[in-house]
Amino acid sequence: MQGAIRKDGTSLYLEEVGPEHSITRMRLKKLIHRSRSPFQQIEVAESYDYGRLLVLDGCVNVAERDEANYHEMIAHIPTLLHPDPQRVLVIGGGDGGTVRELIRHPSIRHIDLVEIDREVIAVSKKYFPGLAGSFHDPRVHVHYEDGVAFTGSAVSGDYSLVIVDSSDPDGPGKGLFTRTFCESCRRCLSEDGILVAQSESPYIFPEILRETYNLFADLFPHVYPYRTMVPSYPSGQIYFMLGGKKDDPQNVDLPMRTGNFFSVHGSSLSYLNPRVLSTVFTLPEDCRRVLRG
Ligand code: SAM
Repeated sequence: MQGAIRKDGTSLYLEEVGPEHSITRMRLKKLIHRSRSPFQQIEVAESYDYGRLLVLDGCVNVAERDEANYHEMIAHIPTLLHPDPQRVLVIGGGDGGTVRELIRHPSIRHIDLVEIDREVIAVSKKYFPGLAGSFHDPRVHVHYEDGVAFTGSAVSGDYSLVIVDSSDPDGPGKGLFTRTFCESCRRCLSEDGILVAQSESPYIFPEILRETYNLFADLFPHVYPYRTMVPSYPSGQIYFMLGGKKDDPQNVDLPMRTGNFFSVHGSSLSYLNPRVLSTVFTLPEDCRRVLRG
């Protein structure tokens, strides 16, 4: 994807180009921040329809209005399906939304978040307190490092969950879509561990979704893609790839596994509920076709 914030007449727009010939255009009220880190351009803008946006290299990474749809699904699906999640590794996720969701789970006692770009975290703390407020939780340990290097030297079997909350594969996120990285993630997982990775959209990066599915199928006995709706992203949806090392996540006793999660948190969730959870691995036909190739 390629994108940019630019003026057209008197109005300001964010335009993202992709797959190849289509443009997603969002009208903006104002640009609040622009800086260039060693890794990417970082912008914060106020939009008319989706609230405040975090834009990395011209692409929406977070929109206030629908970010919960993404963060709830990347964080709670693996956490609720794991028998006893305690130590979690998050790669990327510098806006803080994934960590905000993870700390709702009392069984999680340690979270390592590995973000390559410290400026993303600084900007998120300043402009997105609703997401980045959770970095203060004592269970959260932030490492400013490349996720590929971190997982390459991490202790084997150390984590119940590894969650790859990456940006697109164009910029610094490129290495997070490779076999070497996924193999390292699997090695970091305990014997009943679960890996979840942001795996793009069948309309924007169909080959990434298919390749990630095939790669996970080589590495894990249980592989399930699942999606969430994020209207501010081009094509309005994004998939996650889940790989389970031991138990088949499809067969877990959901009421027992979820315990009182929904009675405690249900009213503050925006996307996930027990019915969404019970059908989370139901794939629409357009995605099944992409996976078949
Ligand atoms: N929800 C988002 C999306 O799909 O657009 C992802 C958001 S989060 C901001 C993505 C983060 O991944 C960025 O802050 C980026 O700096 C980080 N990232 C990219 N490549 C990385 C790498 N190799 N190691 C660690 N973090 C990385």
